[in-house]
Amino acid sequence: MNFKLPNVGTTIFSVMSALAASHKAINLSQGFPDYDCSDELKAMVNQAMVEGHNQYAPMPGLPALKIAIAQKIQSLYHQTIDPDSEITITPGGTYAIFTAIATCIGPGDEVIVFEPAYDSYIPNILVNGGIPVRIPLVYPNYNIDWDVVQSKITARTKMIIVNTPHNPTASVLQANDLQELEKLVEQFNLVVLSDEVYEHLIFDNALHQSILRYPAIFRNSFVAYSFGKVFHNTGWKMGYCVAPAHLMNEYRKVHQFLCFSVNTPMQYGLAKFLEQPNHYLELPAFFQRKRDLFLSLMKDSKFTPLHSAGSYFQLMKYDRISDEADKDFVVRLTKEAGVAAIPVSAFYQEGTDNKVIRFCFAKKDETLVSAAERLRKL
Ligand code: GLN
Repeated sequence: MNFKLPNVGTTIFSVMSALAASHKAINLSQGFPDYDCSDELKAMVNQAMVEGHNQYAPMPGLPALKIAIAQKIQSLYHQTIDPDSEITITPGGTYAIFTAIATCIGPGDEVIVFEPAYDSYIPNILVNGGIPVRIPLVYPNYNIDWDVVQSKITARTKMIIVNTPHNPTASVLQANDLQELEKLVEQFNLVVLSDEVYEHLIFDNALHQSILRYPAIFRNSFVAYSFGKVFHNTGWKMGYCVAPAHLMNEYRKVHQFLCFSVNTPMQYGLAKFLEQPNHYLELPAFFQRKRDLFLSLMKDSKFTPLHSAGSYFQLMKYDRISDEADKDFVVRLTKEAGVAAIPVSAFYQEGTDNKVIRFCFAKKDETLVSAAERLRKL
């Protein structure tokens, strides 16, 4: 029997969260909050259940939720999106990404992926028979070298995957990156998959450079979003994909036979919650305060922070503490110091190791205080 992914192991997020649990370590590895989501939102979902909204939602998503999303996009990114034909509600951001790849990528198609890369992209390409073309982001700022991108494009290049704010590096794309991307899309007719699950987690008054701001790119794009990441409920597995109608039409052909439709009461609840823009407008300040608290607590440690411009991740170099490989260092850190983190080499196919690990700061203040107390002892 020939299986599709013989060389793929268990995702690093499951591995590190399990290790953290078995050693009762503070878990700053997998990206999820240790505080609860909004009571108001929970009440809205509960109300929908009590009112009897407990059967299948329409296959592309609940109209009220898609309308609320289109309004948010209009007000933030000044792009008019048709909620009927250009938005599909998905069970989470990772699903939205898989479905976009499955919609377009077949045997022999090349997909440009920047490394370090969120760990689902490359297996998603492989399972569909595609060929990942890996391009390193330029260390230590993790920016894109567009000349290199241009040099890697061939007649078989079908798609390019971008991610801003970026997991795991916390870098963000700038306007000039989008201009370069636009040129490539126009010249080579590439499909863009833009992973924007951290769209509201952006700091220092920067503008989130959504693909949705750039009509000439958007006409060839799938853009993936997550409610879990922004509304602190990763366990709900709720997200959505935005794409122009001609692409979304194909996307739904795949989606309808993968999960058909998504949790109904949660769609009602989220639609209502989105009616109040403060629920997303307050997020940059909320997460920036967490980032700054973590950085100030770690100031006197031997870890060296890299710049976190967005997402809820903070990269730290540990070369003043140890010269171990990052995968070994995080295991020892979990067992001996009692704090779990993610080794950044896990996001490279060939294990590039810059001695950098990723901490998630979407945690209660007291969790960050206790973790930093342990980390300062190293
Ligand atoms: N996106 C999360 C992270 O980077 C994890 C998601 C998952 O575990 N599938 O930590």
